[in-house]
Amino acid sequence: MTRMDIQEAKSVVCDAGKKLLAIGLVEGTWGNISVKIDENRMVITPSGKKYENQTPDDMVVVNIHDLSYEGPLKPSSERGLHAEIYKQRKNINAVIHNHSTHACTVAAARKDIPPIMDDMVQIVGPSIRVADYAISGTKKLTKNVIKALKGRNGALLANHGAVCIGRDLDEAFVTCQVLEKACKIFVDVQSIGGGVSINKVEAFAMHQYFLKKYSKQAME
Ligand code: 13P
Ligand code: ZN
Repeated sequence: MTRMDIQEAKSVVCDAGKKLLAIGLVEGTWGNISVKIDENRMVITPSGKKYENQTPDDMVVVNIHDLSYEGPLKPSSERGLHAEIYKQRKNINAVIHNHSTHACTVAAARKDIPPIMDDMVQIVGPSIRVADYAISGTKKLTKNVIKALKGRNGALLANHGAVCIGRDLDEAFVTCQVLEKACKIFVDVQSIGGGVSINKVEAFAMHQYFLKKYSKQAME
């Protein structure tokens, strides 16, 4: 990803919140969005402020290593989770956490999604795991989510929502949309006998193909 300056990062994070709100993937103040601006810092949405009222100046610059920040607004309560993702996954530059309806349905059932759709497998990964339950904003939740995200660009959080990551914000955004769609299909297909999975080896290969080949043009 081309490095953004702070002002540009604040503006794209703020716009992403309004876009997620417009397409119904977040409500009110719930969920949070960040982008990494360099090896030490991220720009993240403020805690508990309605997306519709957020302005670029409300976005908070947070140190990824010690979670320190400046300014009057408190950064998202999930800042520890976002920071840990940037520390562990060096090629990830954007994180979106949301509470969309179908993701929450599957998260409430605590059911992993097998490789049932081509786009899900390519973009999110060869399955979607549910991270074990932990209270929001805690180190335990961070640990559980990091584990569930291994080899994946999206995961569900038991009884809570979803986290999607990407090499840029557009990629994280599309991952959220595809994960939400996969969750809806996973639930809907139960009414006609349940989904039939793609072979695991092929599913793994398709995710690698997306990351290394297919997505290259979109990232340029
Ligand atoms: P924040 O408003 O602090 O970002 O929290 C919302 C949320 O979804 C917590 O999990
Ligand atoms: Zn949440």
